[in-house]
Amino acid sequence: MASAANKAPASGGARRVLLFPLPFQGHINPMLQLAAVLHARGLRVTVLHSAFNAPDPTRRPVGYRFVTVGASVPIADLVPTGSHGNFAEALLRINERLETPFEDSLRELLLEEEGAPPCLVVDSNLRGMQVVAHRLGVPTLVLRTGAAACLLAYMAFPALCDKGVLPPQDHLQLNMQLDGLHPLRQQDMVFSATIPHETMSTLIERIVESSMCSSGVIINTFSDLEEAELQKIIDGMGVPVYAIGPLHKISLGAQSSLLAQDRTCLDWLDKQEVGSVLFVSFGSLASMDQEELLETAWGLANSRMPFLWVIRPDSVQGSGKIALPDGFEEEARGRGMVVSWAPQQEVLGHQAVGGFWTHNGWNSTLESISEGVPMICRPHFGDQMINAKYVQEVWKIGFVLEGKMDRDNIQRSVKKLFCHKEGGEMRRRANNLKDKATQCIKKGGSSQTGIDLLVNCIMALPSSI
Ligand code: UDP
Repeated sequence: MASAANKAPASGGARRVLLFPLPFQGHINPMLQLAAVLHARGLRVTVLHSAFNAPDPTRRPVGYRFVTVGASVPIADLVPTGSHGNFAEALLRINERLETPFEDSLRELLLEEEGAPPCLVVDSNLRGMQVVAHRLGVPTLVLRTGAAACLLAYMAFPALCDKGVLPPQDHLQLNMQLDGLHPLRQQDMVFSATIPHETMSTLIERIVESSMCSSGVIINTFSDLEEAELQKIIDGMGVPVYAIGPLHKISLGAQSSLLAQDRTCLDWLDKQEVGSVLFVSFGSLASMDQEELLETAWGLANSRMPFLWVIRPDSVQGSGKIALPDGFEEEARGRGMVVSWAPQQEVLGHQAVGGFWTHNGWNSTLESISEGVPMICRPHFGDQMINAKYVQEVWKIGFVLEGKMDRDNIQRSVKKLFCHKEGGEMRRRANNLKDKATQCIKKGGSSQTGIDLLVNCIMALPSSI
């Protein structure tokens, strides 16, 4: 497109970076953290976003622009509720619906831009937007909001399908190790029982394509955590890779929560003993059924350990109202607190928190690692099984709560984390990883160096691709 193509970045002027997150909490958070990091390095920043899950206008950072893409485009009707929804299909449809309005917005932004033509940082799930950007001569970088291990698994996915390894043909195969992807098994690559294999294959193909067609892949991880995986991605991808996480520790103060955070839990944590509290939270999308809610409540109460439990209003399937079991409140009084949404990063960083029962979304996993908090893992869908497997087998900073979610199983797991030697060893290793995360975000650390390289790359990108 004439307005962007063949223009060289104006000498000396900071380039404008357009950033377009996928409109879900776990994707908005790292993208807005990245926006803050790039802005702090002197780049000009515009955040594009859908009307669905738009960032709260009252808490937007000053100094950069927010632009709504397709104000009247419906998205909510595409989004399934709960852990059993077909999110892959939803992501493909979201791309289709946003493509034309994105093209309109991008054309307008290009006409307005007077300095160096902008570049676009796009979520790796938004391949459709990347195609539009390239058609208009706008170079792109891709943000992967998951682990390097996950991208590596996605890169291997088509070959595993061609070889007939995936999808698993029977129950016996589920436990089989995948060659070259230690410690992953076939079942860790079945991203959901309800998403058809073809839909998942298409989504993964587009994610990998978006990375390979970009001018660079930005990954919210750090090299001491995933060195081998990052090296394999660099070898296989053929484009620069920037490991610049944990982004939330670098971009302190980026506010991007879609739900109001109940901060009273921080006062409650202040009154608890150091390292004594189990934090329980399953992210922004995962859900449980009534039976699991009941078993979780009694498992926590019977463990006799202090706990802070996040129950989102929409996190219990088939219920408008969350009904905790009779007697639970009395049993947990003074020892447990339930909130509908927490300031999770601050909670995990609080000295009273000694363990995290998580669904292992990548943000939650990385936030826990950054604070040295060991985990009880209960992955639900998507990349969560991969993350949980790495927590248990590679970093050894937690363990998977296997089998049925019954109260005895939960109680045993909480005790294992807080009271057994194994749990103590996991805590020690988690603290070692915290130290490494702290080092990499210091001046001269690997993630800070990655950001330097990324900024240089952005400034030098040719405007016509
Ligand atoms: N989160 C939060 N408060 C809560 C629960 C979660 O602020 O009570 C944040 C959490 O810090 C993380 C994000 O929501 O940054 C969830 O992302 P993740 O990748 O862990 O899971 P997803 O929601 O994508 O399944």
